[in-house]
Amino acid sequence: MQRDVVVLGAGIVGLATALKIQEKGRSVAIVDRAGAGEGTSFGNAGIIERASIFPYAFPRKLSDLIRYGLNQTPEAYYHLSYLPKIAPWLARYWWNSSPAGHMAAMRASLPLIERCLAEHEPLIAAAGAEHLMRRTGWIKMFRGESKYKAAAEDAKRLTPFGLKFEFLDGKGLREREPHLTEDAYGAIHFKDPACISDPGGLSRAYLHLFEKRGGALLAGDARSLQQDGAGWTVKTEAGVVHAREVVTALGPWSDVVFKPLGYDLPLAVKRGYHMHYKPAGNAVLNHTLLDADNGYVLAPMDRGIRLTTGAEFADRDAPPSPVQITRTEPRARKLFPLGDAVDAHPWMGSRPCTPDMLPIIGEAPRHKGLWFAFGHAHHGLTLSAVTGRLIAEMMTGETPFTNPEPYRAQRFL
Ligand SMILES: Cc1cc2nc3c(=O)[nH]c(=O)nc-3n(C[C@H](O)[C@H](O)[C@H](O)COP(=O)(O)OP(=O)(O)OC[C@H]3O[C@@H](n4cnc5c(N)ncnc54)[C@H](O)[C@@H]3O)c2cc1C
Repeated sequence: MQRDVVVLGAGIVGLATALKIQEKGRSVAIVDRAGAGEGTSFGNAGIIERASIFPYAFPRKLSDLIRYGLNQTPEAYYHLSYLPKIAPWLARYWWNSSPAGHMAAMRASLPLIERCLAEHEPLIAAAGAEHLMRRTGWIKMFRGESKYKAAAEDAKRLTPFGLKFEFLDGKGLREREPHLTEDAYGAIHFKDPACISDPGGLSRAYLHLFEKRGGALLAGDARSLQQDGAGWTVKTEAGVVHAREVVTALGPWSDVVFKPLGYDLPLAVKRGYHMHYKPAGNAVLNHTLLDADNGYVLAPMDRGIRLTTGAEFADRDAPPSPVQITRTEPRARKLFPLGDAVDAHPWMGSRPCTPDMLPIIGEAPRHKGLWFAFGHAHHGLTLSAVTGRLIAEMMTGETPFTNPEPYRAQRFL
């Protein structure tokens, strides 16, 4: 089999990238060991985070460091045995999270964030998946005055970027979410982001569009990738695929390609979990809601109310340890009338993260025709379509819509 391009990985990043390359007239195959959107992209909170101008930084305040160090918070958890392995990566993350480093990451990611939703919209429309998208924004709620006031000051930093948000008092939040069973001091309603009610379903819709346009998803192992003259080959159940160019979009598993080729890239994971619950009685949750005091999200999804957790620092392949579900579920039940669990077990995914809070996008430094598109951390759904656009433009020799320099792997080598 011969294709112009093979995309390794049928997560949301691989699928959106394949679609954007296809739009340039290239023939594309996707290779995955599983189905479309069955990895990390299956289980996220579904936010296309147009308002996330400032990336998630490592805490710098001593009081926060002590709190997280005690390992008792609902929003973050770590495996003690994993700390020695991850410590150098954490140190780099901490270093890059200085006020100056954070601002640099913000400026570098801004062109991607600004176009994140605009690049999804035509794909969602062409895929007939508008029914999966809610344009209601999302809400961050606080029980106490001081945390709320600090967050409100923070939110004001979004104004110069033309973003819309509204400050709500407890009564205002209750008007928007009448079924909440706890009072809030205040909340911030971010209006620009869109929410997807079935992230796995969006991946499947993108796959159908890709297939309708002549693409194929082939079952195979990315570890079979080999350089072959001026191109590449990958073994699949349908036979060997030859392509001039290959995109590695394997999310948290991208190291299976870059490591054997000699690239030492600092890709780590922040694991996260979800569970779905039926709403009790006739309770309705209208918006995706972040309980900022307890670091979990409640998102109204097609399958039920999805509770998603914060970051777990643990080996990607270690067995699941859903401590954060255990810690947050009782708090979520106090906040909203949740009924029976829909899932038998918590789902676990791994956010693929770099220590400078930026994804790795661009051609591999030492291998012609090999492209990287991974490391999207908390924002892989958000940034998938814009990543695809950037890769497609660079691959076809067009002037990219933004300077791709900040995303290149070279910054780590
Ligand atoms: C709890 C949680 C909440 C989140 N909430 C949000 C949110 O609201 N908004 C947002 O933008 N992001 C969110 N994220 C982050 C987002 O889900 C990820 O950044 C994104 O899914 C990464 O997509 P990906 O395509 O890079 O990786 P994946 O979706 O993991 O895709 C990688 C693919 O590679 C395949 N693969 C792996 N190894 C091999 C191999 N050897 N051979 C062949 N195929 C292979 C896998 O089967 C998989 O299909 C959240 C993440 C978590 C965990």
